[in-house]
Amino acid sequence: MNSAPLIVAGIPVSPDHYIDGQRIGSTETFELHCPIDQHVLGHVSEGLAEHVAQAIQAAQRAFPAWATLGAKGRKPYLDRFAEEIGKRADALCQLESNDAGVLLSRMRHGVVPRAMLNIKWFAEHALGLQDRTLETEQATHLVRHDPAGVVAIITPWNAPLMLSTWKLGPALASGNTCVLKPPEWAPLTCSLLADAAHAAGLPPGVFNVVQGSGAKTGAKLVSDPRLARISFTGSVPTAKWIAGAAGANLVPCSLELGGKSAFIVLEDADIDSAAATGALMYRNAGQVCLAGTRFLVHQKIADRYIEALRGHVEKLNIGDPREEATEVGPLIHPRQLERVGAFVERAVAGGARVLWGGARHPFGAQYYQPTMLTDLRQDDEIVQNEVFGPVLTLQTFSSDEEAIEMANSTDYGLGGVCYGEQGHAVAVAGRVRTGFIWVNSFGIRDLAAPFGGIKRSGVGREGGEWSFEFFCDVKDIVVPK
Ligand code: NAD
Repeated sequence: MNSAPLIVAGIPVSPDHYIDGQRIGSTETFELHCPIDQHVLGHVSEGLAEHVAQAIQAAQRAFPAWATLGAKGRKPYLDRFAEEIGKRADALCQLESNDAGVLLSRMRHGVVPRAMLNIKWFAEHALGLQDRTLETEQATHLVRHDPAGVVAIITPWNAPLMLSTWKLGPALASGNTCVLKPPEWAPLTCSLLADAAHAAGLPPGVFNVVQGSGAKTGAKLVSDPRLARISFTGSVPTAKWIAGAAGANLVPCSLELGGKSAFIVLEDADIDSAAATGALMYRNAGQVCLAGTRFLVHQKIADRYIEALRGHVEKLNIGDPREEATEVGPLIHPRQLERVGAFVERAVAGGARVLWGGARHPFGAQYYQPTMLTDLRQDDEIVQNEVFGPVLTLQTFSSDEEAIEMANSTDYGLGGVCYGEQGHAVAVAGRVRTGFIWVNSFGIRDLAAPFGGIKRSGVGREGGEWSFEFFCDVKDIVVPK
């Protein structure tokens, strides 16, 4: 049984699962809303236990043949997959703008090209996946990278297409078969991804999509002992739950989680450049895991920096993300809006001062003003916890030591930004405890580079060889001399 397509922005998209090369509906559905104006986009199939089981079985059946193809045999499929994503570029842009509120301009110029590259790049680089030979006194060690098996992929709503392909690319290229559970608040681009895989002729069962909620569908999926890997991006509480389920079956999992990254502006920083970059932290309404959300500014330049940043923030174009010129859109869900507002209220009640923003934005019911809070203590909730909205904090420091100590004083360690004279900024950045940190820049992401967090921001690394290491079983064939 399958359902009629939803029509979103004139684009037909299946609300059903994609299992073993076929669309499969469900007796249970969930309602999907547009965050821009709250209209109902349609009803999406909820993944029940039987759907999760069917998807895992299909992936298990497909695994031996897909693994045996080798990287060279898989590459033409994956190249076609990338091309089919490209053919759906406009539809993907519209769908993610409509269900997740992601900026159309960002989709068009960033996310969709990147989604294609995620598939193509890993298919290409799997060819060079080194089967190394180690020569020792006693033996020749033939070190092989074998595909692991069935991989569960779970992604969040703030970047569903980008993050799903970022995991699918290396998982499929290295010979695994996959079951993807997209985010329930933004499931549509992942459904179109299944259409692209189908049109590319990926064998049935190689790539499956089971829609549904985290509590029901996601929990069922990650608790299955037949999985070989779990690759998760999302929040810390969910990660703890998933790590528990994975641990019960000893399934290795990769966890990419939240952040509370420092944006350090040293005394010798180029203030205008640091201010222009600072305003970018409000893009996607601040719903970006790697944004620098805690501004730490040298006290000698703090007043000038605040005014320069305010100038850029005042110019931000807040509105409908489906319009090319918009720079800040809505929050994904009323629950998220409430959460963000409550964070600000508690901070202000605790003594924080609002430099700008601090309230809902009149553009729409799910809009919040770009906000900056100051007069904070290091242990304040808003300094320590991820808000995941357009709410940033600003604190000052008087020495490098103090800046580094403040930067390192949360439980998170995902990203970071450091502006200053290059040598100085590199030295300070080197002492920030984090997975990655940008010097005099923001957002440069290379597929070959390692990506991931430390402390509560995650376990494991993705990108280039790190993705392949995670998705492969490394085997040593020992040949005595
Ligand atoms: P979330 O943890 O609520 O949900 C993420 C995914 O997990 C969703 O698909 C959800 O359905 C699923 N899920 C929920 N409970 C589950 C369970 N018990 N078992 C299996 N799956 C379950 O996170 P979110 O609110 O969708 O996303 C926002 C969070 O993601 C933020 O903390 C953000 O920082 C983080 N994030 C991190 C990165 C990164 O690369 N480190 C990137 C984007 C977002």
